[in-house]
Amino acid sequence: MITNKIRPELRKDFYQSKFKYYKKVATYCAYLIGLLEVTYFASDCIIFGRFAYETIIPRLSIILPLIIFYILVPRANTYQYGVHLYYTIPHAAMWSTIWAIIYLPNKDFAREGFIIMHFAFLAIGLAMPLIYHIPIHACLLLNIIISNSFIHYQYFKLMIALALPLYIGVVLMLWIQENTYADHYLIRKQLEISYVTDELTGTYNRHKLSEIVDVNSERFLFDKKGYLIMLDIDYFKKVNDTYGHEAGDKILKYVATQLKSQIYDRDYLFRWGGEEFVIILVDYSLRQAMSFAEKIRYDIESTDNGICPITISIGLTKYTTNENYHKNIDKADQALYYAKEHGRNQVVNYDNI
Ligand code: GH3
Ligand code: MG
Ligand code: MG
Repeated sequence: MITNKIRPELRKDFYQSKFKYYKKVATYCAYLIGLLEVTYFASDCIIFGRFAYETIIPRLSIILPLIIFYILVPRANTYQYGVHLYYTIPHAAMWSTIWAIIYLPNKDFAREGFIIMHFAFLAIGLAMPLIYHIPIHACLLLNIIISNSFIHYQYFKLMIALALPLYIGVVLMLWIQENTYADHYLIRKQLEISYVTDELTGTYNRHKLSEIVDVNSERFLFDKKGYLIMLDIDYFKKVNDTYGHEAGDKILKYVATQLKSQIYDRDYLFRWGGEEFVIILVDYSLRQAMSFAEKIRYDIESTDNGICPITISIGLTKYTTNENYHKNIDKADQALYYAKEHGRNQVVNYDNI
């Protein structure tokens, strides 16, 4: 099963992504199944050699589930909802077929009808987790067995003998499709992550901003206000010049690791440029933000990074969700500049300059 490829914590997201990707196909197929069921009435007329008034109601009975489907389908935004909704159409088509067969003079024409049903399940199965598809599709065989108890098909054994390999074939095709989609999903996930991640430090890069800033208003999308920190390593050029670029890289990684270990999951850490980082502290008071900034400044100054002692300067500003984020960044930058100008290795609040 695909489950070997997708980590357990990603599975729901994977099935959701697969559902979203194939939802349109499955929806069109559901309508097509309904339409085909109605057109079977034409084959009934051919079998009877006249207008088959006996089967018109059974054949048209698919319209009711189709209307319900039409009403509910806009709400089917999750694969769990989808599983419940979409499979009702091929099952309803199956039962309206069985209902019509009761009136047919030769009931063994049902065999072809049932074979076509497997393709209906295949189309719906594209959008669904295979793990759910297997038992739900197997109910098609169960439907044949149940209907045999009152229709008594002449070639019942042949029907099952044909349906079983078809069922296995469809499941196999869906297994291949789910695995192929898993590869597609994993590559896309990897690309999405690397698009917003800084390669050297593993922090976010500026692309991440598009996820947390409203495109039109350019305001942060958080509902809580907090503080924005801009920090910069002091005299970093000297570190590069003295110890080499590679040692500089190690220090950058070290600083990023220190910062990551201090923030909460709801906060955001960006490498803003060369040796500059931005941290968004979501839902912090001034006191909490100042003590956070002071702690990281002190920790970086006082712990051994394995290369040379370093210090950082920090600019801090309040952000509100009704202010353009460029303004917030600019204020933090001004506070940082002030810290640099006034001796470095310190935290400066924009409101105090
Ligand atoms: P200040 O205290 O005023 O910030 O002095 P500074 O020397 O740190 O400031 P400046 O902005 O002049 O220098 C930043 C240096 O950061 C210049 C560049 O060589 C170095 N740098 C930028 N990106 C990287 C990187 O990815 N790796 C390494 N090793 N160094 C980098
Ligand atoms: Mg610097
Ligand atoms: Mg700099």
